[in-house]
Amino acid sequence: MNRILIVGAGHAGGSAAALLHQYGHTGPITLIGDEPYWPYQRPPLSKAWLKGEAGEDELQLRPPSFYEEREIAVRRSASIVAIDREAKTVRLASGEQVPYDSLILATGARARLLPIPGATLGGVLALRTAADAEALKARLGPGRRLLVVGGGYIGLEAAASARALGAQVTVVEREPRLLARVAGEALSGFFHAYHVQRGVRFVLGASVAALEGEDGQVRAALLDHGERLPCDVALIGVGAIPNQELAQAAGLPCQDGVIVDGHARTADPAIYAIGDVTRRPLPLYGRDFRLESVPSALEQAKQAAASLTRRPPPAPEVPWFWSDQYDLKLQIAGLPFDVDRLVVRGDPSSIRFAVFHLNGQVIQAVEAVNAPAEFMGGRLLIGARKPVMIEKLADPTVSMKEVAA
Ligand code: FAD
Repeated sequence: MNRILIVGAGHAGGSAAALLHQYGHTGPITLIGDEPYWPYQRPPLSKAWLKGEAGEDELQLRPPSFYEEREIAVRRSASIVAIDREAKTVRLASGEQVPYDSLILATGARARLLPIPGATLGGVLALRTAADAEALKARLGPGRRLLVVGGGYIGLEAAASARALGAQVTVVEREPRLLARVAGEALSGFFHAYHVQRGVRFVLGASVAALEGEDGQVRAALLDHGERLPCDVALIGVGAIPNQELAQAAGLPCQDGVIVDGHARTADPAIYAIGDVTRRPLPLYGRDFRLESVPSALEQAKQAAASLTRRPPPAPEVPWFWSDQYDLKLQIAGLPFDVDRLVVRGDPSSIRFAVFHLNGQVIQAVEAVNAPAEFMGGRLLIGARKPVMIEKLADPTVSMKEVAA
């Protein structure tokens, strides 16, 4: 009997438990997470949920009865503090030891903190958990002043949601453009203009040097060039760091993420790792990456569940991601590596367009705004590594099917 223990009851861990059952695992499955919630999805926390358009039930990955009916034991508010690889046990913060035959680490990532004066004032928040989102939502509303530190996806989604709630929003970004780490310049410029038109103020190329408070509550941000921005709440959205300490302390190789192979296996044959906590190979690009996305977490949950139930591995996927801001649905497939050409298909002013990043005639990545056909077609072509005719790709009157033909 193979007792499978999953550490971390987030998107990856919750999905792995369900998949193990679906793939026919007959031994016990235990899911242990340190949050008080049943496994839930984080994407709505900065989008529909923050705007009040989705309820708590809609956050849950599956209803609690799902786990009960399948005899998947879910232990909440329980933190694992150590792994004993020799004894094949984990230790909980309470001191309890839980044995395993196979272990899946799905401990995710946590919000990066800003090491600046004032960072611990009341109203200085991060956005990673449902509890974080509750705290943020409670401080937003008409006329409230939100300062967002970091112009990445989470910061921009929170900015859009806060505007929908009537808050005043200023975003401070250290780089000279938004989404600098994750998107091309054309897309950055488009999102910048779209937010500005909807009342968001940006301060680019500037860092927050300190946060200032009154009575323990944040009241302003002091920027490195001397500007002082008054605020009622500050959201720190400067990236996430992997929760790899457990694995590291157990002697598993880590390098900004627990290192796994294409089957989600770590260096220990009894231990798998999946989701945001991992650094995984992407054969399509011949490199290793630490991806923070739901599709990547799901793909690795499938890899681990397939390997543990001796099923064939899932076909490698082209990595993809999405972001919702205002009435824009951005979908991105692939990673823009070794790119020497950009093709914009459609007119950005129509808010339906796609930016293709190519190496010669081969598409490496696509960023599609309200353009699902371009996203789907682009994703297929990236996976197929098939050269395309640039004139056809650039012409939105030529269908993506024809581009792919
Ligand atoms: P998590 O979901 O973080 O789960 C890990 C769990 O493990 C957590 O509950 C953590 O508390 C727990 N844990 C950690 N250490 C221990 C321990 N020692 N003992 C017990 N439990 C432990 N992705 C997209 O693809 N599209 C989006 O639009 C998108 N939007 C997002 C918006 C927000 C606000 C955030 C925060 C993320 C978003 N993401 C999005 C990213 C996506 O949510 C993550 O990639 C996904 O949650 C990764 O799943 P995971 O299970 O690896 O990690």
